[in-house]
Amino acid sequence: MTELESARKKAMEGERLSLSDAMALYDDNDLLFLAEAARRAKERASGWRVFYTVNRHINLTNICSSNCPLCAFQVEEGDRRGFLLETEDIDRILEDAKNVKNLTEVHIVSALHPERPFSYYRDVVRQVKAALPQVDVKAFTPVEIVNFAKLEGRPIRAILEELQQAGLDSLPGGGAEILSDRVREIICPKKATTAEWLETMKMAHALGIRTNASMMYGHVETVQERLEHLITLRELQDETGGFQAFMLFPFHPAHTKLGEEYHLRRVGSWEDLKMLALSRLVLDNVAHFKAFWVMLTAPIAQLALGFGADDLDGTIGEEKIIHAAGAKTGTGITKETLKRMIREAGYEPIERDTFYQEIREEG
Ligand code: SF4
Repeated sequence: MTELESARKKAMEGERLSLSDAMALYDDNDLLFLAEAARRAKERASGWRVFYTVNRHINLTNICSSNCPLCAFQVEEGDRRGFLLETEDIDRILEDAKNVKNLTEVHIVSALHPERPFSYYRDVVRQVKAALPQVDVKAFTPVEIVNFAKLEGRPIRAILEELQQAGLDSLPGGGAEILSDRVREIICPKKATTAEWLETMKMAHALGIRTNASMMYGHVETVQERLEHLITLRELQDETGGFQAFMLFPFHPAHTKLGEEYHLRRVGSWEDLKMLALSRLVLDNVAHFKAFWVMLTAPIAQLALGFGADDLDGTIGEEKIIHAAGAKTGTGITKETLKRMIREAGYEPIERDTFYQEIREEG
């Protein structure tokens, strides 16, 4: 049996893939084979169910001290495009959120403001929990947590514990980009290193904080670095079991220094679907894979349900980070649209909370 034949057999039967198996499948470029194998893996993990959630995103600030070449969202302090939400602004958002039927999650991610102390972020978590006690707070990527720890001169564990006491329920999986220090040196040299990102996730899992994981591809990384990234996540998941979902983002080069310097274009839908299917196959120990419609567009996100995704994420309400990089998608989507997209793909729509518990619709 050739290496490719062996990799194909393993992929179809749900056996663990090595790095060289994954490379062979990538190079083979048989998209429909990958779709079939990934669909089987999805159906082994979550049957005919496909999830969605009613959530709200809050971006607290776009003023950032990190200045990552990959970023189209951040501005420097003093820039007239900068924003920073104060308590009253957040109150207004939360008042509005109270009218959203079945809202189950508030998702908060932000830039690394050079001056705001950790207590500001902790108090936002308290504020959200006080206004919406039934809602799960998913907030702060490992990049933000590492920044808080550095600002405060405190260990990561102490920061996570304080946030947990304030009401934090889970961490989003962002800021992983590609877990290779060679790549990070080019795309985001000042933000958390590979080791710091992994340490934060490991610590969160040890404290019982479930998290997501992610990958941003299509910039200066090699295919091998993408696949190694997946295997690094798989190893941590073997150890902790704390990742509940994985999502992958194609890099949007518009309005970024990285895009300009390296003359990058956004990868095509073929690559998006191929990487999604391969991720589902390599990350065999993560149950849920998101097709994030804001990044992929709704039509490609729907197609992704045939390539291993089992979650269309949420209604969102408003999102600033990806739109700053030129995403042309809307800022929200209705629950009815998400349900229709799932049904058209032949699956059963299931409304979920942050922890994939089914939500029964009221009224
Ligand atoms: S990617 Fe995050 S840390 Fe880097 S500049 Fe943008 S907002 Fe700041």
